[in-house]
Amino acid sequence: MSVSTINFSIQKAENSKVNAVEWDNLPFGKVFSDHMFLMEYADGEWKQGAIMPFQNISMHPAMSAIHYGQSIFEGLKAYRTDNNEVNIFRPDMNAKRFAESAKRMCMPEVPEEIFMEAIRKLVEIDSNWVTNRPGYSLYIRPYLFATDELVGIKPSDKYKFMIITSPVGMYYSEPVRVKIEEHYTRAAIGGVGRAKAAGNYGASLYPAKQCQIEGFHQLVWTDAKEHKYIEESGTMNIVFQIGGRLISPTEDADTILRGITKRSVLEVAKKWGVEVEERKVLVEEIVTAAKNGTLEDAFGAGTAATIAQIAIIGYRDERLELPPLEGRTLSNKIKAYMDDMKTGRIDDEFGWNYKV
Ligand SMILES: *Cc1c(COP(=O)(O)O)cnc(C)c1O
Repeated sequence: MSVSTINFSIQKAENSKVNAVEWDNLPFGKVFSDHMFLMEYADGEWKQGAIMPFQNISMHPAMSAIHYGQSIFEGLKAYRTDNNEVNIFRPDMNAKRFAESAKRMCMPEVPEEIFMEAIRKLVEIDSNWVTNRPGYSLYIRPYLFATDELVGIKPSDKYKFMIITSPVGMYYSEPVRVKIEEHYTRAAIGGVGRAKAAGNYGASLYPAKQCQIEGFHQLVWTDAKEHKYIEESGTMNIVFQIGGRLISPTEDADTILRGITKRSVLEVAKKWGVEVEERKVLVEEIVTAAKNGTLEDAFGAGTAATIAQIAIIGYRDERLELPPLEGRTLSNKIKAYMDDMKTGRIDDEFGWNYKV
């Protein structure tokens, strides 16, 4: 299927709500743009997709996604460039990951061309929601869920693929405090950790809340079996810097979400000649480095924050403090570089911007 043959029905909203947005006081993910995308799957095929005014959807009380969790999502962003164009960052990567998540959850895959064109068209129609305010972007949320009207456990025959978008500012305004988790588990080998499956996030809330009571923002997840190896942090991948090298947990096992931000950060670093190691990372190695002062930096990488530098790592009863942010030259430089690339202030030498 080529893009030219993809034909969505389009119904425009009568009035735009964009002028009512309080940009200086924007809560994350609570304000939505004027339109949304909806495409249904039934009878073994995808039906025609539609762009329509943002609205509630009705559901059957037995809708299977609610009962048995066949539900996946993606997250990506559109940016306004300095010469007033709109770019989406690497949507092809999200399309591929969405298809992999669907496969793991026994759901029909959305063809990459449809996924990309649906996002492109929706963002084009709501392009006045992509502001050029520094640090702001339009968060794009594609999701797919099972809609069989049946209380019986089996792969659903019907699904809805939807996309909504939400203008957002900076995700974390301060450096984050994280705690290494040694009891609860995010993902086990053979499980669904690699999929952006809704249930993974529901399951993380209780453990995360416990660490928040102790004054941390997020957990650092460790392997399910021994809690000896670091996996990721909250809903971000994690990267450490020791001796000038960037070190990040390998994604070989299916317990780590394969983040597009981390992949991009490491590609940029490699291009700059920085040594990059993706391998198993022992908790002990990081704790020791933090204690003896060789841990130069640690940060989370994800679409929401791009790079969220870590101020404190909690480990058992200790709080290990990391160096001040000003000294973290490499991550500061990568963050600035990525921001500049997405907003067109510098050349897109990797070809990561997808023009709307
Ligand atoms: C989405 C997500 C990430 C980050 O992925 P990006 O593609 O960089 O946004 C990392 N870990 C988890 C668990 C996630 O859900």
